[in-house]
Amino acid sequence: MHITHAGTTGQPRQRPPMRSWTLRVVDSFDVEPNMRRVILTADDIGQLAYKPGQALVLMIPLPGGETGRRDYTIRSMDPAAGTISIDFVLHGDTPAPTWARAARPGDTIEAKGPRGGTVLRSEADWHLLTGDETCIPAIAHILETMTVGLKAFVFIEVAGKQAEIAIDTKADTAVRWVHRGDAPPGPSELMSAVIEDFSPPPGRGHAYIIGETSNVRRQRHTLIAKGLGRDQISSEGYWRPGRIGGHDHVED
Ligand SMILES: Cc1cc2nc3c(=O)[nH]c(=O)nc-3n(C[C@H](O)[C@H](O)[C@H](O)COP(=O)(O)OP(=O)(O)OC[C@H]3O[C@@H](n4cnc5c(N)ncnc54)[C@H](O)[C@@H]3O)c2cc1C
Repeated sequence: MHITHAGTTGQPRQRPPMRSWTLRVVDSFDVEPNMRRVILTADDIGQLAYKPGQALVLMIPLPGGETGRRDYTIRSMDPAAGTISIDFVLHGDTPAPTWARAARPGDTIEAKGPRGGTVLRSEADWHLLTGDETCIPAIAHILETMTVGLKAFVFIEVAGKQAEIAIDTKADTAVRWVHRGDAPPGPSELMSAVIEDFSPPPGRGHAYIIGETSNVRRQRHTLIAKGLGRDQISSEGYWRPGRIGGHDHVED
């Protein structure tokens, strides 16, 4: 993403407006019981340049006829087919999963982007990635594009075994799935306890901590207490009970 730097006028840095896309549904199907994949194309899709982990802001239809902004990660791109895919967690009857369930070939949706800073810092000696179901698209896409020799520690919170997916990666990694069982998704000590037990290896690492905002914040604080610098942690709240769309910067 391009940043306009402050000039001599002393104006604050400004990001240029995000590019707009008219996406067209090609296909949609469940990849597992609680996750629906929508395959999309656009006449100008060949111009979409993004980094794995970045998202699009989708203009999702709302019940009253308006649209609302919802951030969704680009799960993959197939340049030969001219398509991208997006995976929607079916967490309830809220606007985004409702749209994904109903999406049929030929439907269109407006989008802006790509945006987001949860992207690989390839210069790091090791990588720590954590998240919940909403982060599987970002974590899986980052891992799938990691090259031989990169070392990654990965912890993903899901309800149970049925939500686990196979992730193909050349990196030196083992994904640990953390089951919350019957507990609802959302604020909990589960992932911060996992990070409490994590021993950062030697070398300079980078942590990508995403998911429910309070869980992201707890893990971030745990990592800082373990000695990671703030510049070694990319953290972003993907959702939060009661929050409608949007995203939370977690920088404290
Ligand atoms: C950068 C970024 C990338 C993201 N990528 C993805 C992605 O690839 N796939 C994906 O599924 N999500 C992703 N998310 C999360 C998604 O944008 C939010 O979950 C969003 O709020 C869903 O919109 P909605 O219409 O379902 O619910 P909203 O109308 O936004 O919210 C309605 C209610 O549902 C609750 N809610 C929202 N999401 C969840 C959830 N996951 N579990 C439980 N309750 C929830 C809210 O707290 C609120 O109370 C991403 C978020 C960000 C910031």
